[in-house]
Amino acid sequence: MGFRFFAVPGHVLAGAQTLEGVPELLEPEGPDVRMTAERALQGCEFRDMRARDRLRALLSSDVAPPLPSPGPGCGRSAIFAQPPADLPALLRMADQLERLAQQESGERALVWKCSQCGTRYAVPVALVRRVAIRCERCGETVELNPARSTGEESLLDPFLGQVNRARHALAVFFREAMARGWPVLVCTTD
Ligand SMILES: [Zn+2]
Repeated sequence: MGFRFFAVPGHVLAGAQTLEGVPELLEPEGPDVRMTAERALQGCEFRDMRARDRLRALLSSDVAPPLPSPGPGCGRSAIFAQPPADLPALLRMADQLERLAQQESGERALVWKCSQCGTRYAVPVALVRRVAIRCERCGETVELNPARSTGEESLLDPFLGQVNRARHALAVFFREAMARGWPVLVCTTD
């Protein structure tokens, strides 16, 4: 299960029977955002509440969300943030999202290749010492000389990379919705 954030002009919500096919619907960009939104919001606060707790409370089954679903595969929706009252809280959350993405952007590693068999060796930058090792595949000596590494790369795992892209996409989306003065809604999605 994921969470789908979207924004529509406030007047669309008054007495709406459906939110399907609303032409002015703004959403975070990117295919992974719905599935990673909850993880992306971990560590973020909205007003005095953890953002994830707010999501769950808004969409819990005992308090049925009051607004229609925005489309197939989505549950009923609830207002997550309403401008202008929630503008400062949402902008602050956008900042938190970008700070988290920066903090978790992954440890950097230097990379070497065995000159005989091409096996790669990646060592976190903080642990790099100028030593020679024996290639575990062919036994050739590989010098871990920082001046001769074949490059630098991030040791970030693919899922965290997705989460960080979702954080940026959500931050851009929250700011854009507030700039337009549109309420931000959320629903569950398959
Ligand atoms: Zn080798």
